[in-house]
Amino acid sequence: MTHKGGCHCGKIAYEFEGEIGTVLDCNCSLCQKRGGLLHFIPESAFTLKTPRENLGTYKFNKHLLSHHFCPSCGVSPFTEGADPKGNKMVCINMRCVEDVDPRALDVKFFNGRAV
Ligand SMILES: [Zn+2]
Repeated sequence: MTHKGGCHCGKIAYEFEGEIGTVLDCNCSLCQKRGGLLHFIPESAFTLKTPRENLGTYKFNKHLLSHHFCPSCGVSPFTEGADPKGNKMVCINMRCVEDVDPRALDVKFFNGRAV
């Protein structure tokens, strides 16, 4: 199934393939402040539909992850990084995906402060 998501104003839009299983509610220093329900997919399942130059990017800690946000509306719809084996991954903020009711998702707490 193809899902569509993006920021609030439309400068960032994407599509991705796959079923939505359990999503993570992370309490790391960034996620706690910006909010977000995280769903990880391989980079090959992700298509950015808007120009890359529209992305604002924030990095912190070890700078392993690129947390993208929209400089116009401030929403953080996805993050790029890699899994422990080095495979490129995309982390979708499920709150930014169309036709998804965040309250209907199977949400698991993730202790990102301990990582
Ligand atoms: Zn925006």
